[in-house]
Amino acid sequence: MDLKLKLELLPEATWKHNLRLRLTPYKWQKLSKYINSENNYTCEICGAVKSEHFKKFDCHEVWKFDENEKTQKLVRLQTLCFLCHNVKHFGYAGSQDWIDKDTLIQHFLLINQVSREIFDQHLSESEKQWNYRNSIVWDIQFQEILEKYKNITILKREEREIHLKMIVNHIINNPKDTNLDIIKKFSNITGIKKITHDAFYILLVEKKY
Ligand SMILES: [Zn+2]
Repeated sequence: MDLKLKLELLPEATWKHNLRLRLTPYKWQKLSKYINSENNYTCEICGAVKSEHFKKFDCHEVWKFDENEKTQKLVRLQTLCFLCHNVKHFGYAGSQDWIDKDTLIQHFLLINQVSREIFDQHLSESEKQWNYRNSIVWDIQFQEILEKYKNITILKREEREIHLKMIVNHIINNPKDTNLDIIKKFSNITGIKKITHDAFYILLVEKKY
């Protein structure tokens, strides 16, 4: 069955060998904000978007396993909402106290539009695969992704402040513009092709425009 949202149980021995822990907390935060901003804070699986009431978005590491070569390769970074992300890490998330297993199961059923039996079957297959993968010593590879994002530029706080002022002036002078108009013009004003949605949300949500 082709499921939209699947569990991704990572081998136990590689839990601590991810990109997040490889970078400093500051760098990881910057990188994940960059990825989420590039993806307009939209969950790639369920389509949830960031709003005043729904702010929790994560950057998920997508791994590709080659059982013959025994390689576990980081292939990309993905924006996921808090619920989809925790369903993917069901084994780990379910053992923590920040969310209960039933909430995750309900989200899985809703997004995949399947019955509880399908979830149980998928869980049991994932656990079987997890047990098998636990028996392998993996060669973990991040290099491609590290290379890909080594040159990302992230706005400094002062630059962001300047951009915010530009948008405020723009809104004052163009009261009839829609949010989309403002986003487009903001891009022209600043010369930034990809808009930092962070800045935009701060303006709209915190400053109540
Ligand atoms: Zn989602």
